[in-house]
Amino acid sequence: MFGSHSAVPGSAPSRRAVFSVLGASVVAGLTACTTDESSTPAITPSGAAGSPEAPGPNGALAVGGEVPTSSASPTQAPSPTPTPTATKRIRRTFIPDYQLPPIVGGLAPVITKIETKHPVVFLTIDDGNIKTPESIKLLAEYDYPSSLFLTKDTIADNPAFFNAFKAQGSLIENHTVTHNINMVRQWGYQQQLNDMVGMQEYALQHYGRRPTLFRPPGGAYSNVMRQAVADAGMKAIVTWEAKANAGKMDYQVGNSLRPGDIVLMHFRAEFAADLAAFRAAQLAAGLEVVLLEDFLGVA
Ligand SMILES: [Zn+2]
Repeated sequence: MFGSHSAVPGSAPSRRAVFSVLGASVVAGLTACTTDESSTPAITPSGAAGSPEAPGPNGALAVGGEVPTSSASPTQAPSPTPTPTATKRIRRTFIPDYQLPPIVGGLAPVITKIETKHPVVFLTIDDGNIKTPESIKLLAEYDYPSSLFLTKDTIADNPAFFNAFKAQGSLIENHTVTHNINMVRQWGYQQQLNDMVGMQEYALQHYGRRPTLFRPPGGAYSNVMRQAVADAGMKAIVTWEAKANAGKMDYQVGNSLRPGDIVLMHFRAEFAADLAAFRAAQLAAGLEVVLLEDFLGVA
């Protein structure tokens, strides 16, 4: 499938453009994704990140308890098995029915969504600008193992903050050193590689693990970037299928979460509201939050 992810310098995840049947609305949605993802609250041009809307994290949602099994996901694979390390509740694990495409021709694959019959969804959280104890508490309370795509320059003031997420079951991944949203257009191979390797080394130094996944600042990628990602020792570029933003869900396809969706959110001031929106969608869809790296076998 990743063969469709050919180079589209300066564009957001290109698969949607390639398969677009909705025309302009899809393109507009992608533009919004790129803008939102790429910006820190301080540099958001639209100011959309500063939404006053901030519903409480618990809202009308049930906390804890087993996630209902989705009847929409008949699976012939072996049943989920309990994980002995679960804390607040039994976290199920799933035998992956998806294989990460290999690096071919020196180019790392690009994944936007995981094709799976299992009722799973993947939560990814980017940047690291806003560091609140509340975010740690909420992820632990909901037992959401997440992929944290962190940027060195936004976490260097307090890298130890993210150790709590490690303890909660999340992993730190690579979102570059500088978060240059124009890196695809402005930088050649070596500069891109340097910005990735810098974060690889920083993550290893502070969190004891080399990231295996890369998220491009702003979402744009190219074949040059795919090559740099592979050469930096990572296994894939990860974009997203849906996002929690400004206290609500935005979908590139449809109006609900589907099995295998990769969801983007950020360490922003609206963290609790965004997570509440994600949680409502996740529970409504009957999906379990599973660590992407576990499912891909790249933890
Ligand atoms: Zn970012």
